[in-house]
Amino acid sequence: MTTLDIRERLSPNHDSRGEPPHMRPINMLVLHYTGMQSAAAALDRLCDPAARVSAHYFVEEDGALWRLVPESRRAFHAGVSCWQGDSDLNFVSIGVEIVNPGHEWGYRAFPEPQMAAVEGLCRDILSRHRIPPFRIVGHSDIAPDRKADPGELFDWPRLALAGIGLWPPPAAGLSRRRGRGVGVVQHAAALADLARIGYCVSAAAEQVALAAFQRRFRPERWDGLLDAETCARLAEVRMAVEAAQAAEERRRRSRFN
Ligand SMILES: [Zn+2]
Repeated sequence: MTTLDIRERLSPNHDSRGEPPHMRPINMLVLHYTGMQSAAAALDRLCDPAARVSAHYFVEEDGALWRLVPESRRAFHAGVSCWQGDSDLNFVSIGVEIVNPGHEWGYRAFPEPQMAAVEGLCRDILSRHRIPPFRIVGHSDIAPDRKADPGELFDWPRLALAGIGLWPPPAAGLSRRRGRGVGVVQHAAALADLARIGYCVSAAAEQVALAAFQRRFRPERWDGLLDAETCARLAEVRMAVEAAQAAEERRRRSRFN
């Protein structure tokens, strides 16, 4: 039961999440930007049967909310993607499209009414589905070689303060030595940290995964280069993920005891 003011414009682009016993629970939330010149054009595309794309929700810059696909159905928003080794992400996720022209058409800050609406919508979704904080991601996290959304201007820290997703505040004294080269050992550690956080990454694709990580957790610079600050931030985020995973595991066990 939702108390949000949501308009409905149902998209034809959805199908089954699977049949029991193969149906998996919804346990992931993916945030996007629309990346089109106008909200109307984006909404039309997400409802165009020929486009074969959709999302469950759509958030305008003034905070207006739309439901495009019922949560019980699989929407087509993640595309070729991967998180924590799993690549069938549309089956287990809810997708939210947030209106912004994106990097191609004049990327800009997400206005306050829009962020407030995103926060309210996420809270509402989390009240209905058990989605651990480390499974609340941006599209660029799960498709770093193809996607940059919702991008470095998206206010992840605000959502984390509201209990939505992980964004550990950088520790005081975190190294600010950007651009300074690091060695082979640090590259190996960075790959391990990225994988532990959830990124599906190989040494060959290290730079795009690092850029996705930076957009989200060190948004001042997202060049994909492994500097000392990024190394420190990776360790910080990895520890926050491990703590959240341990808490999730305890919660799961206590349910069965
Ligand atoms: Zn996207």
